[in-house]
Amino acid sequence: MRIETGRIMDRILAAGAGRRIPSARCVVCGEATNDGKPWCLDHVASHSPYARQVAKGRDRRRREIARVEARPESARSNSPVAEDLLATLAGRGGSASIARLAKDNMLSVKVATAYMSRLEARGQVTTKPTRRSRVICTLVAGSGHVSPSRLNHMHARARESSS
Ligand SMILES: [Zn+2]
Repeated sequence: MRIETGRIMDRILAAGAGRRIPSARCVVCGEATNDGKPWCLDHVASHSPYARQVAKGRDRRRREIARVEARPESARSNSPVAEDLLATLAGRGGSASIARLAKDNMLSVKVATAYMSRLEARGQVTTKPTRRSRVICTLVAGSGHVSPSRLNHMHARARESSS
């Protein structure tokens, strides 16, 4: 009898050890979540700390672009947008039209031109008008302003958009 009881206890303990994390509820909508996470699948994309950080960066970029759209002279050569443009240029072999750079970075030609003018003033690129009102931008060799992490970021984005 004593042995029997011990076996039952062992079973209960074994079951307890293998027990899954109790299901939790989403802090936003109260929906049950997987593996005790505080957000359901609908809300993890908008409420996790990582998602909030990404959204904050996106908002900052959107505000900056809106500002440059209104006041092109406010474009800064050291902003992440300018870095993206430089990385795009590097990724395209060092030379591309303003229209292409704008498109690749989801910017208007006006905004891309504002950044390119600023980068040109800093000696990081040269711009050259061609026939049919195209402007070709060329990365100045050795100005080396594209950080490796920025390049990786751009390549990852290029892969995402091409898949
Ligand atoms: Zn939820």
